[in-house]
Amino acid sequence: MEIDLVKFSRESKSDFPANKKLREKLKKTKPKDLDAHFHEKHEEVFAAIDCLDCANCCKTTSPIFIQTDIDRLSKKFRMKSSAFIDEYLFRDSDGDYVLKFAPCPFLGADNKCLVYEDRPKACREYPHTDRKNILGILDLSLKNTLVCPAVLKIFYEIGKQYRK
Ligand code: SF4
Ligand code: SF4
Repeated sequence: MEIDLVKFSRESKSDFPANKKLREKLKKTKPKDLDAHFHEKHEEVFAAIDCLDCANCCKTTSPIFIQTDIDRLSKKFRMKSSAFIDEYLFRDSDGDYVLKFAPCPFLGADNKCLVYEDRPKACREYPHTDRKNILGILDLSLKNTLVCPAVLKIFYEIGKQYRK
């Protein structure tokens, strides 16, 4: 069933102040078991969400393209990497290559990635809630509560354990 992204956008904005407080609390208390809890909730939440009903990350944000991503995708499109960059990418304020367009030009109408096998590393790893050292990427995860319904739900679940 398609995820209601308008409702998600409203809820994620209204939950943001509380999620910000949760981030502050986690940064201050540095729970030792935080990775384990995030990974457990990541598994639970993604078992119940089908990304093909959503694709909000591909519709609204850009992954970072590292050189190996650019090389792989240029090869797929039989383009020179410089031509691929000219056509699709620009350098953001951090100097990283990101897409010129949103939604991503490689997103199909059925929410499937048209370059799935060759998609950027950042797309494979998004939304990073199963990574090691969750504490070190809490700022990014907090931002992702505004993009990804799964991350919002993970924050909600984590909050039950750590907000008290
Ligand atoms: S990773 Fe998150 S934002 Fe992207 S499609 Fe899946 S649920 Fe949606
Ligand atoms: S390359 Fe594929 S997975 Fe990555 S943002 Fe574009 S459509 Fe989404």
